[in-house]
Amino acid sequence: KEALIQHYEQLSVLGELAAGIAHEIRNPITSLKGFLQLIETDHSNSSSKSYTKIMLSEIERINLIVSELLVLGKPKELNKNKHHFFEIIQLVVTLTKTQAIIYNIEIKFNFDPSLKHVNIYCDDNKLKQVFINIIRNAIEAMKKEGTIVIDVTQVNDRLKVAFIDEGKGIPKEKMESIGKQFFTTKENGTGLGLMISNHIIKEHNGNMTMESEEGKGTKVFIELPINS
Ligand code: ADP
Ligand code: MG
Repeated sequence: KEALIQHYEQLSVLGELAAGIAHEIRNPITSLKGFLQLIETDHSNSSSKSYTKIMLSEIERINLIVSELLVLGKPKELNKNKHHFFEIIQLVVTLTKTQAIIYNIEIKFNFDPSLKHVNIYCDDNKLKQVFINIIRNAIEAMKKEGTIVIDVTQVNDRLKVAFIDEGKGIPKEKMESIGKQFFTTKENGTGLGLMISNHIIKEHNGNMTMESEEGKGTKVFIELPINS
């Protein structure tokens, strides 16, 4: 019975999501169509250039939304194996460093050396996606010199990871909307990153929470079971 209720809950969540997606995709498509119609009737070269620029950025936005959604499209296809947690997080830091360097942001680890060899049973690619999104969010919230600390501790049979940034933080009144589908404060955001991250962490029997102070920074906490 419980499985059935869970199944229906999942279906209604997916349905809601699909409706939201349809709506979100319709907006950029409508805009693309309008510019195409303008190009059709206007033959001067310089204006068609500015139209095509907007068209390209709208197409990029559709691509972003669709690629983030692909993760949700295959909820049952987790490919779990035993992995060194440290290797996963280290790779993610390497991948996000190029973006951090642009703003002079340093990414620091705070680790007990004994945790270097901790294994977790996970889909490493999905976890990488979660951590990349969290670090990108931190960088985008800072956009100036500062430090992002990744703090890892073990509490009983759980690994606790905190991503601490010195960004602009989240105003109290917005806190409730964070992580809801399509909620973004960025011009080119999708508002899907945290929702999908939360979904992936749940699939790993983990937990994700956030704490933020406007003007000071944000902490994202992730808890995952250790594979001993
Ligand atoms: P996106 O990054 O596309 O906007 P996310 O789901 O990743 O979507 O994040 C949703 C919103 O949550 C962001 O637009 C931002 O307002 C807020 N947010 C997320 N992480 C942080 C952070 N580290 N600092 C401040 N705001 C954040
Ligand atoms: Mg994001």
